[in-house]
Amino acid sequence: MVTESMQFPHRRYNPLKREWVLVSPHRTARPWQGEVNASSGFSDVHYDPACYLCPGNTRAGGNVTPKYESVFIFDNDYAALLPDSPKPEREDAPELLRAERERGRCRVLCFHPDHSLTLARMETAEIRRVVDAWTEEFRTLGGAPECRYVQIFENRGAMMGASNPHPHCQIWGTYSIPQEPKKELAAQYAYFSNRNRCLLCDYVELERTHKVRVVAENARFLAVVPFWAMWPFETLICSRTHIGSMNEFTSEDSRQLSAMLKQVTGTYDKLFSAPFPYTMGFHQSPTDGVDHPEWHFHAHFYPPLLRSATVRKFMVGFEMLGTPQRDITPESAADRLRALAGG
Ligand SMILES: [Zn+2]
Ligand SMILES: [Zn+2]
Ligand SMILES: [Zn+2]
Repeated sequence: MVTESMQFPHRRYNPLKREWVLVSPHRTARPWQGEVNASSGFSDVHYDPACYLCPGNTRAGGNVTPKYESVFIFDNDYAALLPDSPKPEREDAPELLRAERERGRCRVLCFHPDHSLTLARMETAEIRRVVDAWTEEFRTLGGAPECRYVQIFENRGAMMGASNPHPHCQIWGTYSIPQEPKKELAAQYAYFSNRNRCLLCDYVELERTHKVRVVAENARFLAVVPFWAMWPFETLICSRTHIGSMNEFTSEDSRQLSAMLKQVTGTYDKLFSAPFPYTMGFHQSPTDGVDHPEWHFHAHFYPPLLRSATVRKFMVGFEMLGTPQRDITPESAADRLRALAGG
């Protein structure tokens, strides 16, 4: 429920992470300026001879990216994790100087041979091939003993530090469950244990009733600006039924997720008439050999843009030292996105 008093500064609770966000809507009382970039920033370069992800080009260490026609997957040439690494800890290490062994795998998945494409500009059928590749990688990596969690993520745009504009994502399998999903695992587990209900199933039902934060919906997925969003135009995509991971996807789930990804990324590009930068990724149930009935499949989009293609939000100052803060309310962000999502 959004009340009048929510036009004043208040805190909102993020039940997925069990953290708070400060909302200060009065700071945006000024009318919308509607800034738009003159140069769109969309690329027309279909093949870049200097791009190591374009078909036929040579990568670091002399590996050649083959002349692929659909998707292409390979082990990251600069992997942050290795399948095996020695234990760094010593028996006599002080408690305050703690290190632990970590293992895993880092894969790269090119979405398309065309250098200029983004998810938003790809056909739904082409995105479907990416979803199928994600599903396959999730299954394979998740089945490896050194991977007890699989993180699929995409960094889009130089603003997010993406080192290469070629459409691609990374897939890391880790032995430890990373911190963000670990917080969500604890929160979902506690909610499920106390109520015998799923946190995100309940949340999806609430958002479908309230409607004010819904951006788009199809037969299988719902996209909302979450009540507790930190980033101005953050979205959360949840499956409408209770599934834990892509392992449980039906063919229709894969098709509908592809359509939803195209709709959400296309909506973002329309917002400031520019290719929208973001970090996105899927949070799926751990692959640690234990059942996780509490875990609900979802994806987060964390885009940094605030007022135009060049004005971004920084998580600095109070946010770095205190707690995240936002000005425009999630409801007004959802209003604007929903108007552009257009069914
Ligand atoms: Zn390329
Ligand atoms: Zn659920
Ligand atoms: Zn999550």
